[in-house]
Amino acid sequence: MIRINENYTKLKASYLFADIAKRVTAFQQANPDKRIIRMGIGDVTEPLPEACIDAFHRGVDEMAKRESFRGYGPEQGYAFLREAIAKHDFQARGCAVEADEIFVSDGAKCDCGNIQEIFAGDIRIAVPDPVYPVYVDTNVMAGRTGPNTGGRYTGLVYLECTKENDYVPALPTEPVDLIYLCYPNNPTGAVATAPQLRQWVDYARAHKSIILFDAAYEAFVRDPAIPRSIYEIPGAREVAIEFRSFSKTAGFTGTRCGFIVVPKELKAWDDAGNAHSVHALWNRRHSTKFNGVSYPVQRAAEAVFTPAGQAQTKQLTDFYLANAAIIRAAMEKLGLACIGGDNAPYIWINTGRDSWEFFDLLLNNAGVVCTPGAGFGKCGEGYIRLSAFNSRANVEEAMERVRSVLS
Ligand code: PLP
Repeated sequence: MIRINENYTKLKASYLFADIAKRVTAFQQANPDKRIIRMGIGDVTEPLPEACIDAFHRGVDEMAKRESFRGYGPEQGYAFLREAIAKHDFQARGCAVEADEIFVSDGAKCDCGNIQEIFAGDIRIAVPDPVYPVYVDTNVMAGRTGPNTGGRYTGLVYLECTKENDYVPALPTEPVDLIYLCYPNNPTGAVATAPQLRQWVDYARAHKSIILFDAAYEAFVRDPAIPRSIYEIPGAREVAIEFRSFSKTAGFTGTRCGFIVVPKELKAWDDAGNAHSVHALWNRRHSTKFNGVSYPVQRAAEAVFTPAGQAQTKQLTDFYLANAAIIRAAMEKLGLACIGGDNAPYIWINTGRDSWEFFDLLLNNAGVVCTPGAGFGKCGEGYIRLSAFNSRANVEEAMERVRSVLS
């Protein structure tokens, strides 16, 4: 009798998006003529930048000819892409990251989920609350938690992100080994300042911990004082892995490309206290289980770093940030306290009432779908998340509808 990994039975099924879908379907059935506007989604709406499309096409054409055809590429990514990333995303901003410390992948979700595999099963995990659920669920699957009781897994350390701490958690009072941080943040849209990140880097150095820094939304940072990479913080190379994605930067959600940075200085220890290179461990894992991102996609990603690609991706993120500004202004005008939207594509809105009650109010009276904050963790109760990934016309109409319902 084949037995299952019973840790999977602990997973609190992803009720959030299933629940949203159920309520939206019921509303649509009851109101077949009403056009629903989805302001909850975290998927992009605008097409790929022209520079990426041109490079993508050229890559496909190369695959069509014997002379330029390519089979398996390096599992870690082609040198042309790794070098472009190192130069433009890091070295140009004063971060000492080398091309061979970059591992190209099919997106940050897989990387965030897979990374925990190279660490011991009994390490202590700290996750933010509210949280991008992948960090939690993959540790549940790996058996690092007990059951979910009252909305939280036993065995995890929850780092509360609240209005009181500007949505950047305080250092834990108990020791932790692996720390997930995400800035600009999904779902709150908050950013972390250099002094705030320095505290975490100092903590990790003092406790021999590792920070997993998810910078999937770094392209939305406009404030020059806000770090776009954890490696802007002195000492971070010894204690941090960074996750990046082309998904939101350049519209690659359906094209798939991301990468992680694993500095060569980063160490973790075995039971006997011997230090091991995390870079070497990850290289082993990545090259054993992954066979590389397709060549045309890597060419399309490389094009992000051309002058045209840089201008076009900036235009894309500017467009979404302008949507975010419209949403935030509309919500604040209605007297609701918000954060996010200025250096991030999400706006986190304090509704002053139950998240789901507010969700139903917007759906049933305005035909607008949001994401209830409670779905991201206990600290999300009372909040909703609105996403700036939409057409301008939809954003404007949604805000008009919400205005007429709430004012
Ligand atoms: N990390 C965060 C915080 C995200 O919000 C997302 C996507 O929504 C991802 C990672 C995944 O990105 P990718 O499309 O590269 O898998």
